Amino acid sequence: MELTALTFEGVDPKRPMVIAGPCSAETEEQVMSTARRLADRGIRIFRAGVWKPRTKPGGFEGGGEPCLEWLKRVKNELGMYTAVEVANARHVKASLDAGIDILWIGARTSANPFAVQEIADALKGVDVTVLVKNPVNPDLELWIGAMERIYNAGIRRLGAIHRGFSEYDKSLYRNAPQWHIPIELHRRLPELPIFCDPSHMGGRRELIAPLSQEAMDLGFDGLIIESHCDPDCAWSDKNQQVTPESLSLILEHLVIRDTMQTTESLAELRREIDKLDNELMSLLSKRMRISREIGQYKKEHNMPVLQARRYDEILNKRGSQAVELDLDPEFIKTVMRAIHEESVQVQMKLING
Ligand code: PEP
Ligand code: MN
Repeated sequence: MELTALTFEGVDPKRPMVIAGPCSAETEEQVMSTARRLADRGIRIFRAGVWKPRTKPGGFEGGGEPCLEWLKRVKNELGMYTAVEVANARHVKASLDAGIDILWIGARTSANPFAVQEIADALKGVDVTVLVKNPVNPDLELWIGAMERIYNAGIRRLGAIHRGFSEYDKSLYRNAPQWHIPIELHRRLPELPIFCDPSHMGGRRELIAPLSQEAMDLGFDGLIIESHCDPDCAWSDKNQQVTPESLSLILEHLVIRDTMQTTESLAELRREIDKLDNELMSLLSKRMRISREIGQYKKEHNMPVLQARRYDEILNKRGSQAVELDLDPEFIKTVMRAIHEESVQVQMKLING
């Protein structure tokens, strides 16, 4: 993918890009008051859902198109960029007509290729920023596929949002982070900016700070966090929203690692690991050669390949040695079992060959 970097005027490129605002646009006052307090604390990109995908009917499903007028006020009066969730072509058209700067595709929508394609078709020839949340299910190909559909429509200001994955059994998180998935996404598409959404991931206010820090430690480019002027009274997702003032404190306390510095020290440590891996390889090769000699000896003396007492001895000896060396004995037993199994295979081939 050849992407255009996501830059926003007034957003410090040395800090994570932050998108903040309420889960839902509820009233004009709620939107304006939240946005004003966020703007006062330096937030430049305002989010608010106007069409809300709710699990069951009867909940607040967003005020729809009329709310876009309030977002226009946020843009015109406070000079903020605005972001909304779109789930179909009608949403895209209405948002573009209202001058919305960032469209995001929600987790339920990105799981549906028909819906994503409809959105992509509506975006043809348009220059707008699009962020694609991970699908609710942990399917990296589906996530990448959704981004490819948007990219193929000509969108170059593209990014991903990691909001965690749905699980049947509720755990500490509302949506499990499964960090290895965005890490693999970054490996596959290194130029794609990735945001973390700690609000929907944690589902609880207290988890916003630690999850944001984890995302920063993993080198994420930005954060999208739900913030409400009066979180306890929010019409949707009240447990995971924070006031603009709390948000500002959370952001202030984030430790942003110096990427250059980290890369250099990491490179040094990786060189050491490579050296050790090379040594491990040559030791393994030496061990296997001797094992083959033992196999030869067993063959010549008509002895059985597997000698259970010797196998037990190896496992027990290495297991207790592991403790002294600050290694997990179970891990060492697994490694020794694998090595021993390979030796047995090699010797069997020798004897039968
Ligand atoms: C949201 O951002 O308000 C939202 C509905 O999120 P998700 O699609 O991640 O559930
Ligand atoms: Mn929400």
